[in-house]
Amino acid sequence: MSRKVRVRFAPSPTGGLHLGGVRTVLYNYLFARHHGGDFVLRIEDTDQNRYVPGAEEYIYNCLQWCGLEPDESPLKGGPHAPYRQSERKAQYAQYAKQLVDAGHAYYAFDTPEELEDMRSRMKTEANPTPQYDYKMRSHMRNSITLPQAEVEQLIQAGTPYVVRIKMPVGETIKFTDLVRGEVSFDTSLVDDKVLLKADGMPTYHLAVVVDDYLMGITHAFRGEEWLPSAPVHLLLWKYLGWEKEMPEWAHLPLILKPDGHGKLSKRDGERLGFPVFAMNWADPKTGELTQGFKERGFLSEAFINILAMLGWNDGTEQEIYSLDELVKQFSIDRVHKGGAKFDYEKAKWFNHQYIQRKPTEELVPLVTPYIADKGVTVDAGYLHKVIDLVKERCTLLPDFWEQGHFFFTTPEITELQAIKDKWNEQKKTFFETWMAGLDSASWAHDALEANFNELVAAQGLKKGDVMLPLRIMLVGGKYGPHVFNIVEMIGKEETKKRIENALNAL
Ligand code: GLU
Repeated sequence: MSRKVRVRFAPSPTGGLHLGGVRTVLYNYLFARHHGGDFVLRIEDTDQNRYVPGAEEYIYNCLQWCGLEPDESPLKGGPHAPYRQSERKAQYAQYAKQLVDAGHAYYAFDTPEELEDMRSRMKTEANPTPQYDYKMRSHMRNSITLPQAEVEQLIQAGTPYVVRIKMPVGETIKFTDLVRGEVSFDTSLVDDKVLLKADGMPTYHLAVVVDDYLMGITHAFRGEEWLPSAPVHLLLWKYLGWEKEMPEWAHLPLILKPDGHGKLSKRDGERLGFPVFAMNWADPKTGELTQGFKERGFLSEAFINILAMLGWNDGTEQEIYSLDELVKQFSIDRVHKGGAKFDYEKAKWFNHQYIQRKPTEELVPLVTPYIADKGVTVDAGYLHKVIDLVKERCTLLPDFWEQGHFFFTTPEITELQAIKDKWNEQKKTFFETWMAGLDSASWAHDALEANFNELVAAQGLKKGDVMLPLRIMLVGGKYGPHVFNIVEMIGKEETKKRIENALNAL
């Protein structure tokens, strides 16, 4: 009987969550849901030097915003708790010992100075960063080179040591990656990675294998940057005797810079003016704030859809997918091998589509903070009407203010010159007359427009002559939705006030 699908997202909480990381979460999540399996969040915090306060909570917030909630996590608990590797420390040492006893790993006593000395002594032009590998190990201080009695004595005396994997020489390791097909490695080219550190904490390499095993993970999807570590992990699965339970692997392609080559970085986002992190990240050390997709004004559903399409499609032309549809359609074998270039204009296109499709009542609470932020007290009913009027012009949430601020506050008239250029007494008289008539007008946009049209005709004007001036008077510039909707919404007093202000300035 095949095992229940169990996947995991295993971030190291060290800073902002890159959109590539969220895409890894998404593909894990979709795969788990598609197969009726479990999605586990495991926090990989064994590297205490890289501890960043707040980074773990930030990951929870990002997953919550995206609606990709794990079934098991440090917060939620679950049958394999704890889910934070720093709390699982006691589990790993026995496996490191098991590996040493079987001759697949060894103790290494080299001090940081000795390692540094080795690197600078062995450095050549052809090999600028010499590795601790099968050739080097015989020149270093470890349980392979030292007599056993000395090894025991050093350990007894509490000498700091690490445990390193003993990579075999000249073997070929192969596996079938669900995205990339068959991948093979020459073990001679891989260094003897540290498995257990001097502080007793495992490194990522040991912890990821032990935890994937203990947590019953069936499929491990992670970024392509981890591919070079795969031979180490495969050997650990084999040496620990767990080969039959080893998960299937998928190394997901990178998300690439829109221009040039290589992985899209936070710096590229800064350089080109778009977010790269899911949500705002404030670096606790430097205080530097990096804007996220959420705060830039993306809807989480759009963000998910964008990420789904960055490296996957279902073979059709369809681009807009709800999360439920993605769950139905997703299959790991349709994930592309090659990296996808990130296209910010396309990302905005998705968001625009989602804003148009989202029911206005759901937009109200999302837009409210952007309006409140400008010092405006928001009436939900009024905002609902404004959203209906301007939403087709909005791509990102802050656009609702840009496109609709004049519904809330009296705008500054920035394009007065455009009225001035063609201004005359006849137009002035027209506006004065129209204003006077407003007191008895019935206050609905179609009635207001009819009344305006009548007066235009009665005064021998063309509608075009006075429509643009009216728009500029009410809005401040040459944009915005239908003018008489604006008149209806802002009301009689405000309409008159804005026209009077403009007439005084002309
Ligand atoms: N802790 C690793 C990371 O930060 C996880 C890699 C994996 O999923 O195996 O990306």
